[in-house]
Amino acid sequence: TSVPSDLSTRARHEESQGHGSVVATHYNTLEERGLAERCKSRIFYLRNFNNWIKSMMINEYLSKSWQGKPRGAPMRVLDMCCGKGGDLLKWRRGNITHLVCADIAEVSVEQCQVRYNDLQNRSKNERGFAPVFTAEFISADCTKVRLRERYKDPSMELDLVSCQFSFHYCFESLPQAENMVRNAAECLRPGGYFIGTIPDAYEIMNRQQNTGGTFGNEIYKVEFQCDMKPPLPLFGAKYNFHLEGVVDCPEFLVHFPTLVKLAEKYGLQLIAKEHFGDYYQKVKEEGRSLLGKMQALETYPPFHEAPLLGHVPDDYEHVQQYMQKST
Ligand code: SAM
Repeated sequence: TSVPSDLSTRARHEESQGHGSVVATHYNTLEERGLAERCKSRIFYLRNFNNWIKSMMINEYLSKSWQGKPRGAPMRVLDMCCGKGGDLLKWRRGNITHLVCADIAEVSVEQCQVRYNDLQNRSKNERGFAPVFTAEFISADCTKVRLRERYKDPSMELDLVSCQFSFHYCFESLPQAENMVRNAAECLRPGGYFIGTIPDAYEIMNRQQNTGGTFGNEIYKVEFQCDMKPPLPLFGAKYNFHLEGVVDCPEFLVHFPTLVKLAEKYGLQLIAKEHFGDYYQKVKEEGRSLLGKMQALETYPPFHEAPLLGHVPDDYEHVQQYMQKST
C-alpha cells in the first residue's frame, strides 16, 4: 500500500483509510538489521528484556495448554500480528504442531515465511534439531478481516492465540476492536488461552499529564493527536509513538475495562493482567538463565527509563477518573 509522504495529504489519507495502511507501510519498510547492528542499538537491552518477557509468558501459557494433552496431540497456535516471525523459535521450543501467522504488513509476512522455511531446512539437515510444526501465513488487517475465513481449515480449533506488542492498534475504533477480539476468540477451543502485551494506558496518561503534552527522551517520544480534555474517547485515543529505529507510527490507548467487556462478549474471561515489573518479579528466578542468555539482565533495575512498559499500579486516581468518565 502506498502512503503519501507529504504531511497534510498523509493526514487526509489516514482519515479516509484508517491507520492500517500507515502502520503496514511503516513495518513493511523497516529494515531487518543483523545481530551486530542490533547490539550497537541503544535499545538493545530493552528489546531483549521485552523478548524475554514474551518468552516467559509464551512458555507459561503453552505449558498450561499442554496440561492434560497426551504427547503427539495437536497444539495449534495463532500468532496474530506476527511481524517478521520473532517468536518462531519460541513456538518450536514449545513443540507446537501447527502455527497460523497473520500480519497486516505483507513484507513482514513474507520474511516470516522465509524464516520458517529456514527453520524447516535446518530441522531436516541437522541431527538433533527438533522437527518443525506446519504453518500457514496470512497477510491481512486483523482488525478488519475475519481470519477464520482465511484459514486452510476454517473449522480448525486453536489452543493458544498470541498477540504481542500489537493489540493496541485495534483500539482505533469499536468495530476494529470487536473484529480483533472475535479473531482471537472464535476459533479457540474451550479452555484455550489468548495472551498479549500492550502499552499501559494509565502510565501513558500519567506521563502525559505530568508533562502537559508530548513526552519522552532521546530514545522515545509520545505525541498525542487527540483532544486530551476528559472524557477521553474509548476508541481512537491516538498518539504517535516513536522508538529509536524500531517504531514510528500511530497507536491507540487501550481502555482495559472496555477490552475486558469486549472479550467477555466473545466468550473470553480475564484470568490475569500483570505489569512487566510485577511479572519480572514473579518469574525472574525461573527465567534467570534465559534472561542471561538473552542478554536482557542489564535492563533491570533501570527499568523506569524504559518507555511504556507497564509497571505502574492502577491507582492513579485522577487518571482512572478520566477513564471512568468516558465509560
Ligand atoms: N508480534 C511481533 C513481535 O512481538 O515481534 C511484532 C510486533 S510489532 C511491534 C507490531 C506488529 O503489528 C507489526 O508487525 C504490524 O505490522 C502489526 N500490525 C499492526 N496493525 C495490524 C493490524 N491491523 N492487523 C495485523 N497486524 C497489524
